[in-house]
Amino acid sequence: MRRIEVFDLGQKTKLAVLALLLAMVVSSPPTIAAETDPLVPQAAQPYGDGLLRQLRYAATTVPGSLPLELRFITVAESHRPRRVVLDGGSDELYVQARTAFQLVYEGSTLMVDAGMDEAVHRTFGMGAVEPYWPDRNAAVQDALAAASLIVVTHEHGDHVAGVVRSPNRRAIARHTILTRAQAETLVLAPQSPLIRLTPAQAAEYLIIDYTRFHPVAPGVVLVKAPGHTPGHQMVFVRLASGTEYLLSADVTWALDGIADITQRPQTTSDRIREDRDALDFQIRWLNRVLNASDVIVVPSHDSVYLDDLERRGLIIEGFVSD
Ligand SMILES: [Zn+2]
Repeated sequence: MRRIEVFDLGQKTKLAVLALLLAMVVSSPPTIAAETDPLVPQAAQPYGDGLLRQLRYAATTVPGSLPLELRFITVAESHRPRRVVLDGGSDELYVQARTAFQLVYEGSTLMVDAGMDEAVHRTFGMGAVEPYWPDRNAAVQDALAAASLIVVTHEHGDHVAGVVRSPNRRAIARHTILTRAQAETLVLAPQSPLIRLTPAQAAEYLIIDYTRFHPVAPGVVLVKAPGHTPGHQMVFVRLASGTEYLLSADVTWALDGIADITQRPQTTSDRIREDRDALDFQIRWLNRVLNASDVIVVPSHDSVYLDDLERRGLIIEGFVSD
């Protein structure tokens, strides 16, 4: 019988199996180390002057009508002093909006980022109770379910939790693009255990990899930008009206960081484990885009600037739900 054969393994074989098992245990990285060291290399590289021209062309390469409008929802806020957000910043309060974006096409929608449930929101509060709107996150969840396609700017909880912790996760995963770096980080070294994916769960998403930029829908181009996280990317958008946006996500939290070429302080970067060389290249390029083009640069978290764009009719608050 097979069973007996197993028990009949020779002493040498048994020792060899034991040794192999021990080697596997010893060589697998301890959890602490995995969460301390970025596992995915973040290559710092300059952004060429021709990149914006390339993005504009790439935005025309996926057949179909361009999106009609850009919308956003703020599901939560973090209240921090400016000195945590910008190197050399003051003690003045800075309100960080936790946002998700929606592009509305004729008859369909595309989501950029996914909001988060309240448990993930609480991990950002550092003990403080901060504003959270469950009804707005529910609207994000409805929009994620209804979207034709979802992309996430990066694998931090405030951007990705809505597609990894949703009760509707499996259905949403089928139309959610994760980059290989985002998926690897979520499996191997997530920002918080709350957003960890198993390899089997990760395989349910549309996993892609690309080198510099990649069009995913009419008027929408992903722009690789590792630095804040290994899987961080920006999103270039061109509307049918001709209005163009660069969703710069978390390269800087405040638009002032791009306008003044100022990073987060070193202590904040150390906590997040950012690649400041890579961020420096990105900020300098965004600064040129901001100053030398009509492209509207939109960081994810700048609540004052988002409100300003909304007043000027350049972005709409609230999602279309059907
Ligand atoms: Zn963020």
